Amino acid sequence: MSKYSVLPQNVSERDFDAAIQEFTAILGADKVLTTADKLLPYGKIMMAVDTAEHAASAVLLATTVEQIQAIVRVCNTYKVPIWTISTGRNFGYGSAAPVERGQVILDLRLMNKILHVDPELCTALVEPGVTYQQLYDYIEENKLPLMLSFSAPSAIAGPLGNTMDRGVGYTPYGEHFLMQCGMEVVLPNGEVLRTGMGSVKGDKAWQVFKWGYGPTLDGMFTQSNYGICTKMGFWLMPKPPVFKPFEIQFDEESDISDIVEMLRPLRIAQIIPNSVVIAGTLWEAATCNTRRSDYMSTPGATPDSVLKQIQKDKHLGAWNVYAALYGTPEQVEVNWKIVTDVIKKAGKGRIITQEDAGDTQPFKYRAQLMSGVPNLQEFGLYNWRGGGGSMWFAPVSQARGSECEKQMKLAKTILNKHGLDYVGEFIVGWRDMHHVIDVLFDRSNPEETARANACFSELLDEFEKEGYAVYRVNTAFQERVAQSYGPVKRDLERTLKRALDPNGILAPGKCGINI
Ligand SMILES: Cc1cc2nc3c(=O)[nH]c(=O)nc-3n(C[C@H](O)[C@H](O)[C@H](O)COP(=O)(O)OP(=O)(O)OC[C@H]3O[C@@H](n4cnc5c(N)ncnc54)[C@H](O)[C@@H]3O)c2cc1C
Repeated sequence: MSKYSVLPQNVSERDFDAAIQEFTAILGADKVLTTADKLLPYGKIMMAVDTAEHAASAVLLATTVEQIQAIVRVCNTYKVPIWTISTGRNFGYGSAAPVERGQVILDLRLMNKILHVDPELCTALVEPGVTYQQLYDYIEENKLPLMLSFSAPSAIAGPLGNTMDRGVGYTPYGEHFLMQCGMEVVLPNGEVLRTGMGSVKGDKAWQVFKWGYGPTLDGMFTQSNYGICTKMGFWLMPKPPVFKPFEIQFDEESDISDIVEMLRPLRIAQIIPNSVVIAGTLWEAATCNTRRSDYMSTPGATPDSVLKQIQKDKHLGAWNVYAALYGTPEQVEVNWKIVTDVIKKAGKGRIITQEDAGDTQPFKYRAQLMSGVPNLQEFGLYNWRGGGGSMWFAPVSQARGSECEKQMKLAKTILNKHGLDYVGEFIVGWRDMHHVIDVLFDRSNPEETARANACFSELLDEFEKEGYAVYRVNTAFQERVAQSYGPVKRDLERTLKRALDPNGILAPGKCGINI
């Protein structure tokens, strides 16, 4: 029997022993984890597959770029595959666990220095382990007039990991990869590349000019396995003098089409400058500790009559729109009039302001997300069904009412058919919608877990038939989603992989990319 609970694929125990010895020489024994108890926290996958399929063989805690370079060289020698995480809070997309069983996790959470924040140019440069909370605290302690954009698990997740996975937030800077500027990357051969202006000695424009010279490379390191990002620059928003969050509640599920038609022009023209959220009833109820067991004890999908009851009991809309205005008092006043006139003209939608909502949830946490104050309120989603199962289904849609309605109906029909609920929201980009659905299920129930897996497969299949693909997916389905983007893209990705990483040591299988 092996002394390791899992070995990397195609690596003998002897070679793995030798690699572990070399990792230990680089990092010190306390930064090389191999025992089952130490690996346990990295195995909480939330997905509807066996935990064993994503079990890591070891964890390495690096603290310097030089250590990462040395680790990569060892990996090449012994063909040990490595899976990089920054803060490792990719919940619902695979969390910290590797895409394939046996990969060694390179955990960069101890590299957590805020390297630079420029309050005049409104830029930041950070290491992988920096959390949004840490950056928020730094901004507050130094009284800097800056605002952060982050994902909902803000307090514990971080900008580098979130941006590497092309995540989104809720302020006007909510499209995070758009706001990224400059990366430092350890390549699979151990060399260090700086993107954009960063490779010019002495250049100071690394965090202000994205494009540099020649091919622009940053994008190819996101959602890929071509490099390990060790520093990332990004832009921060100046804190506006006035921040005015608001909610608009709509009573009917069928209102989604009108809502999107109403909001799109306001969003494209930047009257509403942030990533507007249109959240369904169950999302709202669940984030505020409503449990399915409060209403039902029978398994299966929750009927519409119960959704209506929840709407009534919790004072929610079928759709709950959250947006905000930012600027000087004059700007906000003008834009507020434009927004309220549009709602009035539509003849439906209840506007709720900060004054109306006071300190109540979910308005409070939504307003915090839109104004750059971290919180963890959204984890309430996991109380809805209980049991800790979660897989985000995130198809992209045009910001067109008819398209959103079609997607919503299709998703709900498939989820309900499998005895699961539509717990979804739309996040309005500039011209797109991130349609984000939390496929929630009880992981402690094998039958429900199997249903959730079948449901997720069917969602992908049926959406693809309608010409819709997802922008991001959990590690159990990354190979499947890569297929939906067609062979030409896959061939190019494989060509790049073979050129950059001939031994296939960086996250083989991530986003379906292999040598
Ligand atoms: C309740 C809830 C709400 C959520 N809301 C949002 C949301 O609003 N927006 C959103 O985007 N997500 C959301 N998520 C998903 C996820 O939790 C966040 O995206 C989170 O920010 C990702 O975790 P992280 O920042 O720790 O990234 P990590 O887990 O560290 O990284 C994410 C992935 O990027 C890659 N990666 C990380 N670091 C590196 C590196 N240094 N080099 C190369 N590759 C790297 C890896 O593949 C890794 O798996 C939500 C999750 C939950 C549970």
